Amino acid sequence: MSLLTKEQYEKIASSVKFSTKALINGKLVDSISRKTYITANPATGQNITKIAACDVNDVNIAVEAARKSFEDGRWSKMAPSKRKEILLNFAEIIRKNHDELAVLEVLDSGRPIADIATMDVEETAASIAWHAEAADKLEDSITSTGPDNLSLVVREPVGVVGAILPWNFPLLMAAWKLGPILASGNSTIVKPAKLTSLTMLKLAELSLEAGIPEGVLNVVTGSGAIIGEAIGMHQDIDVLTFTGSTEVGRKLLEYSGQSNLKRVLMELGGKNPCVVMPDVADMDYAAEQVVAAVFWNMGENCTSNSRLIIHKDIKDKFLAKVIEKSKEWNVGNPLDPQFKLGSMIEKSHMETVLGYIKKGEAEGAKLVYGGHQTLTETGGYYIEPTIFDDVTPDMVIAREEIFGPVLAVLTCEDEADAISMANDTVYGLHASIFSDNTNQVYRLSRGIRAGTVSVNCFSEGDITTPFGGFKQSGFFSRDKSLWANRQYTELKTIWMAIR
Ligand code: NAP
Ligand code: MG
Repeated sequence: MSLLTKEQYEKIASSVKFSTKALINGKLVDSISRKTYITANPATGQNITKIAACDVNDVNIAVEAARKSFEDGRWSKMAPSKRKEILLNFAEIIRKNHDELAVLEVLDSGRPIADIATMDVEETAASIAWHAEAADKLEDSITSTGPDNLSLVVREPVGVVGAILPWNFPLLMAAWKLGPILASGNSTIVKPAKLTSLTMLKLAELSLEAGIPEGVLNVVTGSGAIIGEAIGMHQDIDVLTFTGSTEVGRKLLEYSGQSNLKRVLMELGGKNPCVVMPDVADMDYAAEQVVAAVFWNMGENCTSNSRLIIHKDIKDKFLAKVIEKSKEWNVGNPLDPQFKLGSMIEKSHMETVLGYIKKGEAEGAKLVYGGHQTLTETGGYYIEPTIFDDVTPDMVIAREEIFGPVLAVLTCEDEADAISMANDTVYGLHASIFSDNTNQVYRLSRGIRAGTVSVNCFSEGDITTPFGGFKQSGFFSRDKSLWANRQYTELKTIWMAIR
């Protein structure tokens, strides 16, 4: 997808229509209370528009609509090939609205257009399409029992799925959930993050155009403490799927225990290591990847490789290259395709990240690059890419997820030390390894406890690969791949006597 110019994106931004209503039972509606909340553009600090502020009453109606649509089979019992067709149509409609969706996402989140217009919107459509394609290809099984029985093991949609989404990749996280939820025949109620609801609301409108039957996809907007909790505690939601912080994840498990023991699937935080060993052949390329691994999306990324563990023999030389490559990560107006980095999501989050930078300095780490708020004249919330050297494993900046553009550099003695440092965390979402010694790469890949290990690159894999976390980075969940389809189904055994 080729990029437009800043002027062209600004023109789209000046005329774009905002979708601000919830989608309940096939209708775009205000909240019952008529209350609204304001969503703002973090790149300018300006308000954008007002969005329906739903509460527990709206959630109850949406769940009722979802349940009715599930029980009467308008989607759950539709031939999988027909569901596939409708979802492929949905994906095409998303593609047709590419530029508008991209601009809406930039305005609401401060994320750079250069990423969203080349990756996120297309990957959103592709994720819906990939799972749709699987709908009529996955097969059930007949087990090898004796001649007096026929045993069928079949997958059935689970029912009503509640999906609670984060603000950092609003479109893509929605698609990672919606693709497999809908392709598997479930009905759903989605709650986007309050900070970034605009693209999910646009997707809701487009789903009507695509022909997804009413009641199957519902979208409620509002605060997590109110409607997130209402979804979590609801007695008639069968599965709760979540991407967000480990802290909120803990609450969701409690809600499940206090209500109907709904299945809880969670993708949570990370403090991901990137290990660089001495026999890496192309240090310039490795440094380029290392910098992307930490700063991409302003570090507001659960897989951000925010701990760089370098072998002592190459430490100084490699770090110098990392600092050099960091200079390419320019920060500016996210509607301007020349910038790799936009603004942080909101003022309070920017302040939290700046607080971590202060903490790093106070704990004795050495600030070697960046470290400040920037572009204050814009009214937005921008932070320079920041690098700390001489970080030790006990420091707060080596232990806590910062969710900002802050790299902590640690030094390891050998391979065993690298593995032990990499695993010295409560998280286990992602890791990267740079080495051209195949045996060493294999040992490191198996030794580091993380859901995805990328070797000689920074990557989360593609739509064919499962994505999820070990340890406190997740809970029984994998997004993407056929594993994602399976987790939104129930297994049923049908055991027949043959007489
Ligand atoms: P968050 O604060 O946990 O919020 C996530 C969602 O949960 C939002 O929709 C939020 O609502 C809602 N929520 C808040 N309190 C709730 C409650 N008491 N009950 C139910 N729902 C509640 O996370 P975030 O700040 O948006 O996202 C950043 C975090 O997500 C980071 O920790 C990051 O690592 C993680 N993340 C993980 C992955 C992954 O795949 N592993 C991917 C992306 C992000 P409101 O905010 O609208 O009030
Ligand atoms: Mg916003």
